[in-house]
Amino acid sequence: MARTQVGIIGAGPAGLLLSYLLHAEGIDAVVLEARSREYVERRVRAGVCEHPTVELLREIGVGARMDAEGLPHHGFSLRFDGEDHRIALSELTGKTIMVYGQQEIVKDLIAAHEAKGYPVEFEVSDVELSGLDSESPRVSYRDADGVARALECDVIAGCDGFHGVSRPSIPDVKVFNREYPFAWLGVLARTPPSHEELIYTHHERGFALHSMRSPEITRLYLQVPHDEKIDEWPDDRIWSELSARLVTSGEFSLREGPILDKSVTPMRSFVAEPMQYGRLFLAGDAAHIVPPTGAKGMNLAVADVRVLSRALVDLLQHKRSELAESYSDTCLKRVWRAEHFSWYMTSMLHTDPDGDDFQRRLQLSQLRYTASSKAAATSLAENYVGLPFE
Ligand SMILES: Cc1cc2nc3c(=O)[nH]c(=O)nc-3n(C[C@H](O)[C@H](O)[C@H](O)COP(=O)(O)OP(=O)(O)OC[C@H]3O[C@@H](n4cnc5c(N)ncnc54)[C@H](O)[C@@H]3O)c2cc1C
Repeated sequence: MARTQVGIIGAGPAGLLLSYLLHAEGIDAVVLEARSREYVERRVRAGVCEHPTVELLREIGVGARMDAEGLPHHGFSLRFDGEDHRIALSELTGKTIMVYGQQEIVKDLIAAHEAKGYPVEFEVSDVELSGLDSESPRVSYRDADGVARALECDVIAGCDGFHGVSRPSIPDVKVFNREYPFAWLGVLARTPPSHEELIYTHHERGFALHSMRSPEITRLYLQVPHDEKIDEWPDDRIWSELSARLVTSGEFSLREGPILDKSVTPMRSFVAEPMQYGRLFLAGDAAHIVPPTGAKGMNLAVADVRVLSRALVDLLQHKRSELAESYSDTCLKRVWRAEHFSWYMTSMLHTDPDGDDFQRRLQLSQLRYTASSKAAATSLAENYVGLPFE
């Protein structure tokens, strides 16, 4: 049976970054991923990197392409009642965010693994965890050729996303769940952004977000019913609905172009507690989900593995277990802050199909207050750019 110190399930941002951080400290790790390399490198998801995420990627030497191709942003617009109200992130917090696609970070991390010879096995199947309450837990799986393999570890990191096998391996896990009565239709279009910054729009027809991935590629989102079928949205309908919701009295015209990718993502808030059991530690979407309105999902995954890597260095190199034992408590404080912020942004900006006029008046009042009060805007901005890791 093969051996490693840390068996990592999943090659998303959480698994790859954890592996890289551990190897940098001299700890062996093997990443096992169900999908192919091409698939994970093309998976279009998040695109807003918080300030602490950007700093960490630079610090560990995988930020060069992000700095060359990413788009630093100093603010974004809240658009409601047809007017733009700028949230000046840099002025309010002294920090910026970076628009750089999650799949680009995944590509950079895989390339960095390849360059250093750190192992990542793609297209594995039948992953099963055992011996989690012992000091040598095991992962059994089939490799890309279908050959049965097993990996004996000191620790297993469950970085396998919401639908992975790790979280269900924890007995008596307590789950907090909220599903929203709407979803996001996300579109990637080959057209230059119509505005230099993100625009978060509250409109009676539903929420819309104008974002971007590069000077040539625009990312756009529309609030749709939670059970919406993508076939209901031919390209023409997407562009006309975006135009209707993004309408403003100021200067703005929506640039249209060929749609490269479109998908519907349900909106949910979810937390599993605790995030550890014996020698299994969960990180990222395996432990928690946020609705994407606050741009927190990938950043939370990064924050988890930053805490976990330090805890595992202490545990495996210095035989000190305090940080490992408090891993879940440490992470959950930040997780619940992000859960609250993501819920707040979602509630403020979306149109609740079951809401009444009273609720709509409250939403508008919250938006006006956020746009006009420096204190309220600063609170939003400091959460948006990302609170310090520690
Ligand atoms: C469709 C979608 C759209 C999103 N859009 C946005 C967005 O616009 N903005 C935003 O901020 N956030 C968005 N998110 C959230 C953000 O992308 C996630 O929070 C982020 O990917 C979390 O990283 P992770 O590494 O924890 O999990 P993941 O990126 O999900 O990685 C988990 C990995 O584990 C692998 N895996 C799963 N099961 C197994 C198994 N049994 N064995 C081996 N490997 C396994 C998966 O293939 C995957 O590669 C989106 C999420 C989804 C699902």
